[in-house]
Amino acid sequence: MKNEILIKNTTVWTGGEKGKLLKNHSVLISQGKIKKIAPYAKIKEKAAKTLDGKGKLLMPGFINAHMHFYSTLARGLNKIKPSKNFTEILENLWWKLDKKLTKDASYYSALIPLITAVRKGTTTLIDHHASPYHIKGSLFEIEKGVRETGLRSALCYEVSDRDGEEKTKEGIKENLSFIEHAAKINDNRIKALFGLHASFTLSDKTLEQAAAYERNFKCGFHVHCAEAQADQINSETLRNMRVVERFDKFGILGPKTILAHCVHINEREMDLISQSQSAVVHNPQSNANNSVGIADIIKMKEKGILFGLGTDAMTVNMTEELRCGLWLQHLKNDPSKGFAEICQALTVNNAKIANRYFEKIGEIKEGWEADLILIDYIPCTPFETDNFYGHLVFGISQSQVDTTISGGKILMENKKIKLNLDEEKINKKAAEIAKKIWSSF
Ligand SMILES: [Zn+2]
Repeated sequence: MKNEILIKNTTVWTGGEKGKLLKNHSVLISQGKIKKIAPYAKIKEKAAKTLDGKGKLLMPGFINAHMHFYSTLARGLNKIKPSKNFTEILENLWWKLDKKLTKDASYYSALIPLITAVRKGTTTLIDHHASPYHIKGSLFEIEKGVRETGLRSALCYEVSDRDGEEKTKEGIKENLSFIEHAAKINDNRIKALFGLHASFTLSDKTLEQAAAYERNFKCGFHVHCAEAQADQINSETLRNMRVVERFDKFGILGPKTILAHCVHINEREMDLISQSQSAVVHNPQSNANNSVGIADIIKMKEKGILFGLGTDAMTVNMTEELRCGLWLQHLKNDPSKGFAEICQALTVNNAKIANRYFEKIGEIKEGWEADLILIDYIPCTPFETDNFYGHLVFGISQSQVDTTISGGKILMENKKIKLNLDEEKINKKAAEIAKKIWSSF
């Protein structure tokens, strides 16, 4: 039938809490959804398109739970002052770059990592955007890029008081217009959260306003939380309370809120996060790169906190992030710790977080969205349900993604991107924009 794809004779990892490894299975996709999962010999249906899954692993597309598309144009920028701590990194790099981002820059800086995400098998990205001198319409520019690549994305604009009151107002406005837009189109490809930068650049007044607006939509916040100790020092010195206590006081926490990082939170703050059912997103590579520390995801698990895995724009390759996250937990604790936590963060919890906004993504289940990837993988050791994570970290992560499908649409096949986009032209244009931005650094 038209709009049907049959992926035949492959090994399937279903994903989710009770993930199973199914050998010699076929998966039938119809109208963008997974229609049937059955042993190879039992699927008799014919589809308009058949993909041979032999020698490959079929699994749900990866989800990146914290991303900044806009950081793309910093690649190779070497005119920045060396930074000795997190605050200096923000001042010397990110808060200089974001001010230079035009509408075009927002669009191209999103398009490029989105195309790379197709290559790396990441089909959903939860992004956090900043372009303080071109705020209006910036999220709509990014949406254009998301649609052109056929992926899914939840977007927000990071409200901050760091550039003055006008920018705060504009940032709030951009969130509201995008939240309204996303609610109106009700499309499982595009969702919206209310973006906030971080406690240390947000006044009480702004937090109050943001919470009042968010209550009308109940879309949740996407905010950086205790990424560096400096955020806590600021909150304790100026407000006499911890960062999470402050968010709790203003109604920022909740079951749809994402707190990125949480490297420097204490047990009391973990309790508040757990009680509010807010999600934490752990970004180990970024935390290591910025030298801010390693989040205590083991304690978070004990406290019943839902924590996922993001990249904070270090990469869109989720297995690279997974591995770094594991090594850092070993370094922080001992080599027996963190394995299950970090693997579940990526393969189970990210889908739970994403399904607070999207519907039925992140698992291979009948009736769910067909966001699937085929990875070249012939195991050289026994490969079963109970050792899937070991293969994921040490084998699958080292293999190539062959095919990427999102919502039943093939975006890459045989490692060839199948999008109606001229990558060469896109990269050339992005380089021109970057050159302009860098010249004023
Ligand atoms: Zn971030």
